[in-house]
Amino acid sequence: MAEPEAVDLLQGCGLPRAWAGQNAWRILDTGFERGLPFLNTWRAWKNDPQRPRLLHYVALTSAPPKPDELLACAAPISDLKELAQALRPQWFGLLPGFHRLTLEGGQVLLTLCVGEVTALLREQRFVADAIYLNTPDPDGAAVLPWNSWTFKALARCCRRGTRLASTSEAAGLHAGLTQCGFELEARQSAPATGGLSGQFNPRWTIKHTRDPAPGHPVEPGSCAVIGAGLAGASVAATLARRGWQVRVLDQARAPAAGASGLPAGLVVPHVSGDDCTLSRLSRSGVRLMLQQARSLLRPGQDWNATGTLERHLDGSAGLPLRWSTTGQDWSHPAPPETTTHGKPAIWHKQAAWLKPAQLVQAWLAQPGVTFQGGARVDALRPDGDQWALLDAQGQVLARADRVVFANAGGALPLLETLQTTQPSLGLRLDQLPALHGVRGQLSWALHQDTAEEAFPPFPVNGAGSVIPGIPVDGAAPAARAWFVGSSYQPDTQPALPEGENHAANLARLQQLLPALGQALAPRFAAGAVQAWSNTRCVSADRLPLVGPLYQADRPGLWICAGMGSRGLSFSMLCAELLAARWGAEPLPVEAGLANALNALRANAAP
Ligand SMILES: Cc1cc2nc3c(=O)[nH]c(=O)nc-3n(C[C@H](O)[C@H](O)[C@H](O)COP(=O)(O)OP(=O)(O)OC[C@H]3O[C@@H](n4cnc5c(N)ncnc54)[C@H](O)[C@@H]3O)c2cc1C
Repeated sequence: MAEPEAVDLLQGCGLPRAWAGQNAWRILDTGFERGLPFLNTWRAWKNDPQRPRLLHYVALTSAPPKPDELLACAAPISDLKELAQALRPQWFGLLPGFHRLTLEGGQVLLTLCVGEVTALLREQRFVADAIYLNTPDPDGAAVLPWNSWTFKALARCCRRGTRLASTSEAAGLHAGLTQCGFELEARQSAPATGGLSGQFNPRWTIKHTRDPAPGHPVEPGSCAVIGAGLAGASVAATLARRGWQVRVLDQARAPAAGASGLPAGLVVPHVSGDDCTLSRLSRSGVRLMLQQARSLLRPGQDWNATGTLERHLDGSAGLPLRWSTTGQDWSHPAPPETTTHGKPAIWHKQAAWLKPAQLVQAWLAQPGVTFQGGARVDALRPDGDQWALLDAQGQVLARADRVVFANAGGALPLLETLQTTQPSLGLRLDQLPALHGVRGQLSWALHQDTAEEAFPPFPVNGAGSVIPGIPVDGAAPAARAWFVGSSYQPDTQPALPEGENHAANLARLQQLLPALGQALAPRFAAGAVQAWSNTRCVSADRLPLVGPLYQADRPGLWICAGMGSRGLSFSMLCAELLAARWGAEPLPVEAGLANALNALRANAAP
């Protein structure tokens, strides 16, 4: 049996009956404590044949439990213990802010929000179906420091009919909730534990005065995604999991024909002394990407969570000055034996190498996703309530309720044509940050006997990067390759010859790992290295773009592009953000951070 309070919260919100047959159900828990109400709700979802397709559980806490506390609280109850153990691998690096943990193949999403309760409530942009006003103490002492702003912030997460259950019935709680619009009754069903339950039913018209109105969820329908790289395939899989029928069109015959054809890349967080927006977003993205890799790819063959060493050749420290022990779950100063010339280096624990094309294939293979190759989209036109996607001859390639432009540098020309042919649409291309192409070339070769001892046992980045020991698909089983990269050159300049890019890659390697650079120099000189090159689509502020392309109640055209040099860190985060906006679901990151990725962010009116 679970603790009575945990069961009570569920029952007090009319669950599991209330969520039967729903597409998604969103629970807001104001006090995660040691996690029992969450584990209990997850178990109820698992055991319910009429469970919603998606369970969102947003939990607030000032301090998440330590992993052993989480496991200990579930230990006496065998099926909860199993769930706690399944959660354990994702229980790391829970710094202040939001953390999205993905369970049950993405059907149970826990968003753990760490910080002060009013601030956390204000960063939410969703409407809860049920609220657990969870307080461990019957006198409500944990909640009573709440002020009227906290209750108002809670009310902003409610719709008429949102159910609420509390394990406390303290007078201050009753008054605060009533004033902000709840109708409450004492919990007859729970005489042992006491508590309140009720629903949001204010006597006034509900108005959202600040931005946050998340709108109504759009019922899943059909979606066409242009571009079958990391951006398009992640969007497709994420929407399909929510019940959308998604067709992914690409001009190439096979998926991952653009930058996502990269033979191997790094999934690694960005760090900065001030823990800037890019750093924080990259950690959220890396967390989501590592979860995807764990559930969809073959470890050792398609990816490996090796960790990565980042060397700061300019002598800067990289990490924030007061980096907590929780932050060190992510990245910490590297041991002295891994540094050279006394220059600081950082060990990224939560980092991996990954073959993007394998992940793209895995996402496209999800139920509900169809890939259509050899389908270059040259124009779009409205077609009833839908959009028709046309080829150069004006033939219809596909029709869909919604369209996502995930075709990197190919998006803008297509949108410019659309702006000309459909002026009434009000496309706001002037508000998109500038996008430009940046060419990149990797140098690579199979490992041979020579120079093996000079390779590190893990990837190293900093000035360029080296990724050693990558199994080569289709080659002899033991064949492994190393990759050294990458050149970085605007595509407005004439492309450099391959040899010049190899030389630039070698020069960077000689700075990054001098011994390895020296050992590999003869191979470069003999022309015994191969090249892989493509073009990155980079935005002016180095952050991707995700969002609608014009202002409307229910805009049908969206973009997810501009992944720059970090498609492996950002694609899944962007896909989750897009899906959250379509479904009026909880955001995977704080609203302030999510806004930094809004597509229409340049020259936007304040
Ligand atoms: C040398 C190099 C090294 C890199 N290393 C890393 C790394 O270590 N880590 C990392 O995270 N990232 C790395 N990147 C960046 C990463 O590869 C990109 O961020 C990512 O692949 C971008 O994915 P995407 O889906 O946005 O674009 P793409 O993969 O380019 O996909 C766009 C797709 O759209 C299709 N398309 C375009 N126009 C149309 C049209 N009109 N109709 C139909 N289809 C169309 C294209 O055929 C293409 O398949 C590297 C990039 C390069 C070039």
